[in-house]
Amino acid sequence: MTANLALTIADNLARVRERIAAAEARYGRPPGSVALLAVSKVHGADSVAAAHAAGQAAFGESYVQEALDKQAALAHLPLTWHFIGRVQTNKTRDIAGHFAWVHGLCELKHARRLGAQRPAALGPLACCVQVNLSGEASKGGLAPEAVADFIAACRGIDGIGVQGLMTLPAPADDLAAQRRPFAALRALRERLATPALPLPTLSMGMTDDLEAAIAEGATMVRVGTAIFGARVGTAHR
Ligand SMILES: *Cc1c(COP(=O)(O)O)cnc(C)c1O
Repeated sequence: MTANLALTIADNLARVRERIAAAEARYGRPPGSVALLAVSKVHGADSVAAAHAAGQAAFGESYVQEALDKQAALAHLPLTWHFIGRVQTNKTRDIAGHFAWVHGLCELKHARRLGAQRPAALGPLACCVQVNLSGEASKGGLAPEAVADFIAACRGIDGIGVQGLMTLPAPADDLAAQRRPFAALRALRERLATPALPLPTLSMGMTDDLEAAIAEGATMVRVGTAIFGARVGTAHR
């Protein structure tokens, strides 16, 4: 790891933490109520190690093989890995065995496979159900009206535990437009949460819209670019 890379990432992380704290204060959220997931996809193990040295423990990855390689290289560090990419059927065993969280759950077939393949010693795989609030066919996620039945079906599956909801809206430039899908996810959570199934997690907000997400109740923001720099030649998934 070069000293420069470590300094840049530590500095970037400090700035992201300041943005989170400022948004918590501005929108009346308790200090520390928004967790930071550092999205390290496309960036190397040295970048993850630098972020860990600067106090970050939770990392999000979108590509299974890339994540497994990094996990192997960093097995000596106490890191928590979240799978935030699109779940593919032929990858469920690797995901179930090597991640603590899955953020993009939206197919029952995947939920069943992940539950069946989850090693019992690891405890239930924490899952967020992905909701598509922008109606874009290219984006993954369930239509809001399908979420209640989906969660009910997931409750019968050993090996996974539904912790909440996740969304990945289309980019929007102004705060009001950014807040709309996040407000809709929050409202859906309020409608579906019960004492037996509190759905504590709202996974929403990225580099460009984390303030809007925190304003609408995000409990976990997934931030890549602002911590690790631009991902050259890759698109959001
Ligand atoms: C890449 C990615 C992020 C991080 O996006 P940035 O704009 O780089 O902060 C967050 N969530 C998901 C699902 C992603 O794929």
